[in-house]
Amino acid sequence: MSQDPRQALIDAARRLVAQGLTAGLSGNLSLATAECIWITPSGMPYETLRTQDIVAVSREGAVSPGQRRPSVELGMHLGCYRADATISAVVHAHPTAVIALAMLGQDLPCVTDSLAGSLGGGVPCLPYAPSASPELAEQVAAAVGAHRALILASHGLVTAGATLDAAIDLALLVERTANSYLLARAVGPVRQLPAAVALARRRFVLEGYGQSPSEPQ
Ligand SMILES: [Zn+2]
Repeated sequence: MSQDPRQALIDAARRLVAQGLTAGLSGNLSLATAECIWITPSGMPYETLRTQDIVAVSREGAVSPGQRRPSVELGMHLGCYRADATISAVVHAHPTAVIALAMLGQDLPCVTDSLAGSLGGGVPCLPYAPSASPELAEQVAAAVGAHRALILASHGLVTAGATLDAAIDLALLVERTANSYLLARAVGPVRQLPAAVALARRRFVLEGYGQSPSEPQ
């Protein structure tokens, strides 16, 4: 990565706020590099963050002295990286429509072609566990290998990706889909895409969509 990972994390945190995915002090983000895990500090507004506020943590969770206190959800982030080596970024946010589903304790079913293409299925809602608890970290770690987006009951959303942009894009897609899903549900029964169709859409995106790196720009 050419950019300072700490600045990349700050830019991503501000993008999270700009996209309306979280507000104030809520939510947290992390980025894995060969060196360590970089995570946002506990209880600091994103707009005031400077690179020295970003906390470097070992993959085992050790924080060297002289740094800010890391996000209280550090265990959840570390669990994601331990669960799947292809994950390099984790985003936790509290977006409005996802929280509505989280209040209901309901999954977001696979209701759009876009969600199928990005995830190959819906977004499960995990059972309630208190924020910052080891139980929450364990539940997320157990599920994130199979589901890159997870609703946390009575709490919020976690997404994981190969890059910060991918994790934020996924959070945005899930929030927008949750919003449309709730609107549709207020009118009538919502159609879900069959599991086989959802998986086929995901395969299509992985194999045939967009430009390959070798093609001219
Ligand atoms: Zn939270």
